[in-house]
Amino acid sequence: MHPFSYIKVSDIAGALAAGRRGGRYIAGGTMLVDLMRESVERPSTLVDISALPLRDVTATARGGLRIGALVRMAEAAAHPKVRATYPIISQALELSASPQLRNMATIGGNIMQRTRCAYFRDVTAACNKREPGSGCAALGGFNRTHAILGASDHCVATHPSDVAVAFAALEASVHLLGPDGQRSVALADFLLPPGSTPQREQSVRPGELITAVEIPALPRPLRSGYLKVSDRQSYQFALTSAAVALHVRGGVIREAKVAAGGVGTVPWKLPAVERRLIGERPSEALWAEAAQQAAAGARPLTHNKFKIALLKRTVERQLRIVGGTA
Ligand SMILES: Cc1cc2nc3c(=O)[nH]c(=O)nc-3n(C[C@H](O)[C@H](O)[C@H](O)COP(=O)(O)OP(=O)(O)OC[C@H]3O[C@@H](n4cnc5c(N)ncnc54)[C@H](O)[C@@H]3O)c2cc1C
Ligand code: SF4
Repeated sequence: MHPFSYIKVSDIAGALAAGRRGGRYIAGGTMLVDLMRESVERPSTLVDISALPLRDVTATARGGLRIGALVRMAEAAAHPKVRATYPIISQALELSASPQLRNMATIGGNIMQRTRCAYFRDVTAACNKREPGSGCAALGGFNRTHAILGASDHCVATHPSDVAVAFAALEASVHLLGPDGQRSVALADFLLPPGSTPQREQSVRPGELITAVEIPALPRPLRSGYLKVSDRQSYQFALTSAAVALHVRGGVIREAKVAAGGVGTVPWKLPAVERRLIGERPSEALWAEAAQQAAAGARPLTHNKFKIALLKRTVERQLRIVGGTA
């Protein structure tokens, strides 16, 4: 591991001052320390933000929910407001990592986590994300777990977060505080597809601190849930996943929020599936038909063609479960 200095801050002003001087924030440390051990990340100063007052889950004045950046994954999953209003978030968190990791890791750190592409973590492999311009070993290598949606010639890595898929479905936004003040960015704009700059995974400005994730108000009652398909049932990243939220009134689907994980370079919103559902009555035929739209635009690689059929089946199954016909 490369040498680094460490400071622990107790207030937000102190964190922002240290961030302005080039310090790297560390929350739960479950990703950053791993990458530092493997020399993939080499920060010169770690700024421990774990004591900052960003650990609340609160209802917003507009009827949504605000989850502080330092709320642990386990705390967020178990929180009564989250469980009651957005079970989709609790389920996505409970299907992530392991209980030990969820007790340490934070919501802010989770959406900031970097890809799990094995070549990214192997400093002897070519990787444009780790070292811009060096090439992409996954393109001609073993790419079974890689993206079928949103990739570029520069990078085909998937986004690994489960809860970010639920946030994407719900159209959440990220609150940030930095040297230039406060701003809020839609998650869809916060997580960046690779394009020609795969080294930039999030639209965070230097020194900016995530303070919270906000989920907008949605009509009630909202049925929602998250389904994850992976090689093992626990402690494994998704091959495919589906986050679905439906508002059904008078027997008709009035709102549909659907996103997929494990298949895109970012959590993949599925507007074509959503459009097919709205205004229709729940039925087996509808789920099957809507799920056919899930892989629109997919471009599989040598080893991951199976993800196209798996994605459609994952979405169909989750529509059936959330839609109440399972
Ligand atoms: C074996 C293993 C299995 C896993 N399985 C899954 C899984 O199935 N699903 C899943 O979703 N995740 C999984 N994870 C990833 C895990 O969820 C992340 O490591 C964790 O969420 C990161 O949170 P953290 O608080 O520890 O972040 P840290 O390691 O502390 O930080 C991560 C990054 O976020 C930045 N950061 C943290 N907080 C802030 C903030 N408030 N503002 C600005 N920047 C910030 C840090 O600078 C760093 O770049 C797994 C991890 C491991 C090790
Ligand atoms: S897919 Fe992306 S992260 Fe993986 S080796 Fe290629 S450039 Fe690196």
